[in-house]
Parts: sequence; C-alpha cells; structure tokens
Amino acid sequence: MDSAREFDAIVIGGGPAGSAAGLYAARASLQVLVIEQGMPGGQIATTDIVDNYPGIPNITGAELGQKMLDHAESAGVEVAYAMVLAVDRSEDGIFTVKTDSETYAAPVLIMATGAVPRTAGFTGEDTFRGRGVSYCATCDGMFYRNKKVFVVGGGNSACEEGLYLAHIADEVVMVLRRDEFRAPQGRVDKLLACDNVSVKYSTSIDSVEGGHLISRIAFRDNVSGETYVEEYPEGSVGIFVFAGNDPVVDLVRPMVEIAQDGGVVTDETMATKTPGLYCAGDMRSKKLRQVVTAAADGAIAGSAAYAYVRELRG
Ligand SMILES: Cc1cc2nc3c(=O)[nH]c(=O)nc-3n(C[C@H](O)[C@H](O)[C@H](O)COP(=O)(O)OP(=O)(O)OC[C@H]3O[C@@H](n4cnc5c(N)ncnc54)[C@H](O)[C@@H]3O)c2cc1C
Repeated sequence: MDSAREFDAIVIGGGPAGSAAGLYAARASLQVLVIEQGMPGGQIATTDIVDNYPGIPNITGAELGQKMLDHAESAGVEVAYAMVLAVDRSEDGIFTVKTDSETYAAPVLIMATGAVPRTAGFTGEDTFRGRGVSYCATCDGMFYRNKKVFVVGGGNSACEEGLYLAHIADEVVMVLRRDEFRAPQGRVDKLLACDNVSVKYSTSIDSVEGGHLISRIAFRDNVSGETYVEEYPEGSVGIFVFAGNDPVVDLVRPMVEIAQDGGVVTDETMATKTPGLYCAGDMRSKKLRQVVTAAADGAIAGSAAYAYVRELRG
C-alpha cells in the first residue's frame, strides 16, 4: 500500500456540514483534512440566494459556501480537492481514505457527503440530462429565457425553483404526480400568483424524445391512465426535476445503519455504530435538510471528534 498521509481527523465533503466539522475540530487543536470533489459549499453552491441562514440575509449560495470553507481553512484545516473513491477501517481503528490521487489515514472520519437530487424516472431522462433535463434552476435556468419549462414536483424546492424560473422563462408548467402540492400553502400561493405559472395536477411525464434537444413530451394522466403527447420546436422547452434528494452514503454503507429515509442513523453526537465514524448534514437521517442544520451537525461532529481523539490518546 502507498504510504498514507496521517491526520487526527478526515472530513469527506466541503459543504456546510463538512466545513463546520473542520472548523470545530481544528479550533479544538486537531490536525484536520477536508476532502471535496467539487465546489466549496456543496448543494448550496448551486443556488442563487440563501435568505434563511441566521444573521447573513441575502447572500449567494456560492459565496456562503466559499466563506464557510475559507473559515475552516483559516482555523488550520487543510483542504484537498479530490474525489474519495474508497474508505476502509483497520482492526486497530484507523480509517484509510483513498482519493483519485492520494491515500490518507486518521483515527476519526467525519462523513459529510450530503445528498443528490432524485430522478423522476421517465424514459429519456438520462439521455436528455443537460440537453433539456435539469436538476438545478439556478445553474441552468438562464438557458430557458423566453422559453417554456416544465417543473416536476410539488414540494418545497419545486415551488422555490418554479418561482425562480417564472422570472426567466415565458411559461412555467408545474407537473404534479398528485392532485395537490406538498409545499406550505404560503409558498404555493406565491408561486401561483405569477401570471405565467400553471399546473398539471395528477400528471406524470412518461417519456421525452427529440434530436439533440427535446421536441416531444409524453404525459400520463394519473387518474384516467391515458397518455398524450405535446410537440415543440426542438430546444424551445426544458424539464426541471425536483423530486427530493438521496443521501450519499455508499462509501460507508457497510459501517453504518441506514434509516427509512435513506440517511445514516447517528446519536446526538453524530456518532454512528462504528467507533470513530461520524456522519453530519444531509446524509444523516433527519427531518430538516438545510444549511443551518448541516452546519450545526458539523459543529457537533467536530467537537465529538476532538473528545474521541482525546480519549484515545489519554
Ligand atoms: C437548489 C437548492 C437550493 C437550496 N436552498 C437552500 C436555502 O435557501 N437554504 C437552506 O438552508 N438550504 C438550502 N438548500 C439545502 C442545503 O443546500 C443543504 O441542506 C446543505 O447544503 C447540506 O449540506 P451538507 O454539507 O450536508 O451537504 P452538501 O451540501 O450536499 O455537501 C456535500 C459535499 O460532499 C461532497 N462529496 C460527496 N461525495 C464525495 C466524495 N466521494 N469525495 C469528495 N467529496 C464528496 C460533495 O461534492 C459536496 O460538496 C438547498 C438545496 C438545493 C439543492
């Protein structure tokens, strides 16, 4: 095995949970490595304005994410930009973390790998991903200026992103599997107050077709079971899917207990059933997946990591 660089604690994920975990563990004097495969900030880096992080109103997601990781670095955290491919734990309790470029080792591993958007499951969804099918309005919304978009989903994020798209696209059609929204009424009212927003209730997208871009969408009426096709000039229409998120747990699946919502079960200190392994943020089983709760989880995990290392070393 290549020689591994050693740390007191390794954090996988540079989103709000990972940044806060790194900050708290480093301020408690641990040597900490945070490994991030993409942009600082995780999911929040893909959103425009974050307006509900206490004390910092009206900040862009990218800026908030960058500030969080910068803060951890200023406390002494080392940041490596790489994708973690595998995680292992030896019998003497040391975690080995392999990235695409290096191997690291530590007695504590804090997982903060977050969550990824769930697909809607229609035929052609994967084929047209990035060519008419998107999971991020703030990333791709601008491509649909003056065009028509369908927004799949009736929850909080579908409404939020539908509202965002209503300011860009000519027409926004919400596509709801059921006959009602799941989002709070206030948010639904705000969305439906837009002149260019309409709703297809009890409807699913069955399939999409086209050339390079989408030109045909088959819808299914979930009450009658009938399908019908709508045709558009190629490239004049987009589909944004907001069907929830799946916690990213695969790297540690054999070492943890998974709850019904797909998240990792932890105790109040973010500890899992494996000694030295902590999970924080959206990858945990929890009710409210937000920046503020992810950061709080990270802070708790970082402090618990310090207590664990201190106990180990006596
Ligand atoms: C469009 C959108 C808008 C949102 N708006 C808000 C909002 O306004 N307010 C709010 O409070 N919350 C909002 N949220 C939710 C919020 O972004 C999340 O709750 C929060 O980011 C969770 O933080 P996290 O650190 O647990 O996970 P994430 O933010 O998902 O970060 C996980 C990080 O781990 C990294 N990672 C994963 N696997 C690996 C690997 N193998 N190797 C290396 N790195 C890895 C990922 O690249 C990612 O950066 C929004 C989410 C989305 C998608």
